[in-house]
Amino acid sequence: MREIVDRDSASVSLPTCPHCGTPVATVTSRGPTEHYASPCGCRIRAGALERAEDRG
Ligand SMILES: [Zn+2]
Repeated sequence: MREIVDRDSASVSLPTCPHCGTPVATVTSRGPTEHYASPCGCRIRAGALERAEDRG
């Protein structure tokens, strides 16, 4: 028996866009309240990507 070790090696622990679910590589800020996820380009709220699983 072999263990499958390659399943998670390709997936980096990136946060996902709350709008489209695309893994967000970077967040671009155009103002104090304007933040855009990259590469999908959706506008997101500040702190929207911070540990959504930590609540509840
Ligand atoms: Zn998006």
